[in-house]
Amino acid sequence: MSNRILSSLLVVILGVTFSCTETSPGSETSESQKSGKAKNIILLIGDGMGLSQVSSAFYFKESTPHFKRFPTVGLIRTSSTIKITDSAAGATAFSTGKKSYNGAIGVDADTVSQTTILEIASDLGWNSGVIATSSITHATPASFFAHVKSRGMAEAIAAQLVTSDVDFFAGGGLQYFNGSQDGINTIEELSKADFDINTTSLAVESLQGTRKYGFLLAEDGMPRMLDDRGDFLPNATQMALDYFSLSDSPFFIMVEGSQIDWGGHANNEDYLVSELIDFDNAIGKALDFAEKDGNTLVVVTADHETGGYTLSANDGNYDDIKGTFSTGGHSTTLIPVFAYGPGSELFGGIYENTGIFDKMMEAAGIRSAQ
Ligand code: MG
Ligand code: ZN
Repeated sequence: MSNRILSSLLVVILGVTFSCTETSPGSETSESQKSGKAKNIILLIGDGMGLSQVSSAFYFKESTPHFKRFPTVGLIRTSSTIKITDSAAGATAFSTGKKSYNGAIGVDADTVSQTTILEIASDLGWNSGVIATSSITHATPASFFAHVKSRGMAEAIAAQLVTSDVDFFAGGGLQYFNGSQDGINTIEELSKADFDINTTSLAVESLQGTRKYGFLLAEDGMPRMLDDRGDFLPNATQMALDYFSLSDSPFFIMVEGSQIDWGGHANNEDYLVSELIDFDNAIGKALDFAEKDGNTLVVVTADHETGGYTLSANDGNYDDIKGTFSTGGHSTTLIPVFAYGPGSELFGGIYENTGIFDKMMEAAGIRSAQ
């Protein structure tokens, strides 16, 4: 019996207990509130976002950073099966609770598929969404809904989105869906799978809780903030929250600020900081929702640091900052974790990146069969 079948069986059993404690629509002092369990989870990942990247919001953002609103802060070690992780192994640690090799998408160190938290929650009746400013097939979002042995397999990842448990997605990556390489028109397949697909704008006449939505708004990655991407990330986050609010079911959303990493790789401080501030604005949408809702856990962290970014003095002037970089790649500095809402207290302390998976599961009262 495969791991996936075993865990499906277990979640069916757990699902029964779960549904007994489920509230009826309208009675919002819910069981989850009484039990202190998270009904919904919003995981926001700032790709390549180390402590200096977070700190930049406190020096370069004109308003108070939303990072300041979190009561609990922790630190994670981000190594994969080797010392310095990539985004694939980093996201796979968050999504499956397993350390894997760099390049792994939803598979363990032996390339065996591992059920992701998005899939486990979906099996329990949760709705789910993924949002990114990269292609939606890129390593971070892919690790939540796909299982392939290498992050480069973008068309295979796109194909897996069709049969995945995802109900709402937004990002770039159109070129991986049009069949230019494998001849399969994945856009058509998504439509057949009840997705309302929009390739021109983040707009819906009126959101229907019975529909699924997909937005593919760029050929590959979304435009940079420096090239006028606008408020795509906070707006897509808000739209997902509005959409999931149409249902009484719990939801899991992964929101990625993908290009903080790309600004780090480019050693371009303006690029990095503009992406970081945009990500902070998306965090604001998640926190506003969670504060009103009372049953939503918000977790913000990063897969690793990129660029060895430092908020250094500008030419020795201690009253002026000019960021410097020590690498064009990733670094393995400890990474901050911010948590708000039911179960947030679990996220304090210093632990491995796989602890993000374990703690989200514990906060939601879900046990894993893995
Ligand atoms: Mg990424
Ligand atoms: Zn990177």
